[in-house]
Amino acid sequence: VPASADAVLDGLDPEQREVATALSGPVCVLAGAGTGKTRAITHRIAYGVRSGMLQPSSVLAVTFTNRAAGEMRGRLRQLGAGGVQARTFHSAALRQLQYFWPKAVGGELPRLVDRKVQIVAEAAARCRVRLDRNELRDVTGEIEWAKVTQTVPEDYPAAAAKSGREVPRDPAEIAGVYGTYEQLKRERGLIDFEDVLLLTVGVLQDRHDIADTVRRQYQHFVVDEYQDVSPLQQRLLELWLGDRDNLCVVGDASQTIYSFTGATPDHLLNFRTRHPHATVVKLVRDYRSTPEVVHLANGLLSQARGRAAESRLELVSQRGHGPQPVYGEYADEPAEAEGTARRVRELIDSGVPASEIAILYRINAQSEVYEQALADAGVPYQLRGAERFFERPEVREAGLLLRGAARAGGHSDPQLADAEDVPSQVRAVLSTRGWTPEPPAGSGAVRDRWESLAALVRLAEDFVRARPDATLGDLVAELDERASAQHAPTVEGVTLASLHAAKGLEWDAVFLVGLTEGMLPITYAKTDEQVEEERRLLYVGVTRARVHLSLSWALSRAPGGRPSRRPTRFLNGLRPGSAAPRPGSPAAGGRGGVERGGARKRRGSARCRVCGRTLTDAGEIKLMRCEDCPSELDEGLYERLRDWRAEQARQLGQPAF
Ligand code: ATP
Ligand code: MG
Repeated sequence: VPASADAVLDGLDPEQREVATALSGPVCVLAGAGTGKTRAITHRIAYGVRSGMLQPSSVLAVTFTNRAAGEMRGRLRQLGAGGVQARTFHSAALRQLQYFWPKAVGGELPRLVDRKVQIVAEAAARCRVRLDRNELRDVTGEIEWAKVTQTVPEDYPAAAAKSGREVPRDPAEIAGVYGTYEQLKRERGLIDFEDVLLLTVGVLQDRHDIADTVRRQYQHFVVDEYQDVSPLQQRLLELWLGDRDNLCVVGDASQTIYSFTGATPDHLLNFRTRHPHATVVKLVRDYRSTPEVVHLANGLLSQARGRAAESRLELVSQRGHGPQPVYGEYADEPAEAEGTARRVRELIDSGVPASEIAILYRINAQSEVYEQALADAGVPYQLRGAERFFERPEVREAGLLLRGAARAGGHSDPQLADAEDVPSQVRAVLSTRGWTPEPPAGSGAVRDRWESLAALVRLAEDFVRARPDATLGDLVAELDERASAQHAPTVEGVTLASLHAAKGLEWDAVFLVGLTEGMLPITYAKTDEQVEEERRLLYVGVTRARVHLSLSWALSRAPGGRPSRRPTRFLNGLRPGSAAPRPGSPAAGGRGGVERGGARKRRGSARCRVCGRTLTDAGEIKLMRCEDCPSELDEGLYERLRDWRAEQARQLGQPAF
């Protein structure tokens, strides 16, 4: 914990300090990825609390994902500002709803659906609509979209058509499943995540006494990732604020990637119009990524169009140089996955922790081939966003066991009597089901199960570190709270996630895979606006990387298939061997990372990044280097090798490449 409030400002640049010290009135930070927006607001809260200007309990910080909220709470604790509420819109609303439900409606708040997909499956079965696994997920997504846009089942087909959405099934069928899903929930006394926001807005709108109580509690509001606020979330924020304006929002219009759910950057871009006295701060120093990564990000931004792009700010990297982004072209998807897994393995072997590596894709269905390839390569991994941690069977079972042990007071069980601290008690309980602190040999399902239980143990350790007097009962309560907020602990291993789920996060190494036309932009992105959102997704993906960035695509789906796919248009003019987009556009002539990257442009072929030799072998082309040139992991090696080859060429009287 820093010694004084001012110490909280150390480690902030002048503009970030301005954000951190502007503690009253509206504040808006517009800045690109990695410029320290999240850091600035976290330090702002800590500064306010430590200086005595903000009451911790009167601050509500809203972030986009539960993981981000958890990270912010942890950071705030470290900075001496524990006790501040950092939550997602959903989890903040849920808490308020739980509190006010008995008064507003009477009785207990209905239980939260914890297996939504299963209820959708039941609804589909009732409607006699057969859905495979992917369709089930997509239909569930459609129901979620309908709810956040406040579309009732009867209106769904028309609304979906109007929004230009690619619907996974006949819209009338989806509407039927949606209606039946709502009915099933009612019958069982359940509510889902979307209901939570709808109901909270309803209660705050109708009940002024309750709205007043909430407003007395919270005086200061901070919102991260404000470019992706949905109309419903904005409404909730306004209801929380009432007629006050102690609101600090930060965002990057170039990272708007949730328009498809009804979110819009307009609230961010119009902030000054709505709050003429707002302090508006821009940040341009990128603290996250190397100049090589930032160069590509800027190249992507320079090709962006539309309203979000008008406010773009060129990023300036503050980090030392790193390796160039690596481009990989593969014959088919399994080859791409295998090649990616091999490079992941190389990184891990070179000392990059698995938890510092992410593989990001456009749609969750792409994950399977990567799960397989990583398992084959013996690399542990975790899925983010696709499978809910607290729904995993082993985690549910562990929860039941821990609850039983806590109820027994942790003492009746002879085994537990010896375990003095909570993490040891957790380990003892898990050991009754064969869990050991050492990971099992091998990979696959067994390893996955071990990883999730190891994550539970780590969660217990972190929990006790923050609350040294906590009991096993407290931990069980924390697990319940996290389960209802879907706040999963980090599982060690390479992260597999969709680009959407990666927002706000960062890793040392990022692999952006499946970058083909049809996948990015995805086939159903038809309007210019939809295509621009796909470009922003790639920008979000690129800017997740601190040092290593790999971008790859496969020319056909299955081995032996016709090579019918093309790499995404968004990399035109930026990747080696590609022509610039639309001649005459600002990006043409390429400020992209190609020429400076060392790989020579030559139509239809590629050159080794190390020695410059023309590559003909498909395996070499995908790695962008000769098989006998070493991997690019050693940053100084390139230079040394180039010098060596140049010297050789000179001695042989040949031109250096
Ligand atoms: P995104 O738009 O992707 O959410 P962001 O603007 O929120 O990015 P942060 O996540 O806050 O950026 O910061 C990016 C990285 O840079 C973090 O690792 C953060 O700790 C670091 N960082 C931010 N500001 C500074 C600074 N002034 N000095 C050193 N490191 C910094
Ligand atoms: Mg951020």
